Amino acid sequence: MIIGIDDTDSNEGMCTTYLGALLLEELKEYGTVETLPLLVRLNPTIPYKTRGNASVALKLKTDCPEQVIAHVTSRIEELARMECEKTNPGAVFIQEKDYERLKPILMSFLEEAVREVIEIEKAKTLISRLGIASKGFKNGRGLIGALAACGAMLNPEGWEFTFEHLAYRQKKRWGTPRDVDKESFFKADRQTYPDTWDTVDLKNGLVVCVPHSADPVLFGIRGENPEVVSRTAALIRSEPVERFAVYRTNQGTDMHLLPAKSIAEIRDMHSYRLEGTVSVAPKTLEGGHVIFTIRDREGDEIDCAAFEPTKNFRQLIRKLVPEDQVLLSGSVTSGTLNIEKIEVKSLAPTCREENPKCPECGKHMKSAGRGQGFRCKKCETHSLSKIKSETVRDLRPGLYEVPPCARRHLAKPLVRDRCRSTGVYPSR
Ligand SMILES: [Zn+2]
Repeated sequence: MIIGIDDTDSNEGMCTTYLGALLLEELKEYGTVETLPLLVRLNPTIPYKTRGNASVALKLKTDCPEQVIAHVTSRIEELARMECEKTNPGAVFIQEKDYERLKPILMSFLEEAVREVIEIEKAKTLISRLGIASKGFKNGRGLIGALAACGAMLNPEGWEFTFEHLAYRQKKRWGTPRDVDKESFFKADRQTYPDTWDTVDLKNGLVVCVPHSADPVLFGIRGENPEVVSRTAALIRSEPVERFAVYRTNQGTDMHLLPAKSIAEIRDMHSYRLEGTVSVAPKTLEGGHVIFTIRDREGDEIDCAAFEPTKNFRQLIRKLVPEDQVLLSGSVTSGTLNIEKIEVKSLAPTCREENPKCPECGKHMKSAGRGQGFRCKKCETHSLSKIKSETVRDLRPGLYEVPPCARRHLAKPLVRDRCRSTGVYPSR
């Protein structure tokens, strides 16, 4: 059977992947775990999501599904942060005989849960219409992610995936500062990058794979295959690891992005790839956020932002000028596109003709009439022809991304994409 679980964590603790790791071990009593567990990230813009917006699916060969359901339900009751308003767990159980029937339906549900905004009612209606065993707690919002995770498990080849090795802390240490040897992360990264990524942020000198919240995660190593993430994890020196799990995941795949043909079709709480022309130059707001505006072919405009946490990425954004052509990836909230990646497709013309400047006062001369050249009335100077002026740009067309410390779970790092085929990796 396939078991989907979501929404058991809170800002103060727990993590649905930890519950998944516990169940992987405990469910061996009822059958055989068939494949790697899944960690599925859903639409990152949903405001009522829990911390990571992660859901989990496990696949088990079992002769006693009723006992499995009872065990999973009781573990959620014991471990989920029910006291937190935003924690509304859900679990979904799919029997082997239903795999083929539910496969296409739950695949489209998965895509919708990653890209769109789904109401709880929709998940509940689907569950009852399809006759799926489920258990919702409190308002049951977790049923959405639980169903989506089952959709991912039913369609193992239907989506792009990466892997994460998650190491968990001993319970007595939860909520205390994590005791890790920072240098060991940089060293491990040097050995396995670019097959692993987002372990450290070299430019900002940060270890980014260690969370700071009170949850059970000690660190997570992300990479291209199960072997490399575990090999990298073995290079880390830290406090004792209670247990670990390797998840197959949609992290780092850009699964959340929708292609936008025009700005008119853009809606809040969705993520897009959008092409346009810079129409208002970047300005830096209080708090260090950098905002500029782009225009599409229809003349519609949208504000685009590189917020303060994107650090050095803002220096790049500040170099844009009106008429630069860009292709942006990012999420839209409150009418602003939060940039994850930018492709500078072409730069505004650097060479343009302009009226000559007056040698006396330095101002641009005015036309002296048709075929009469140019003049400065005040200084009584003359000149015959226009001059060419050239702007020097400290920006090249190409692909740029936010640093690892600001990366969204779902955002695909550049190192995973074109660089892999060319062998030319972005400087870090
Ligand atoms: Zn003059």
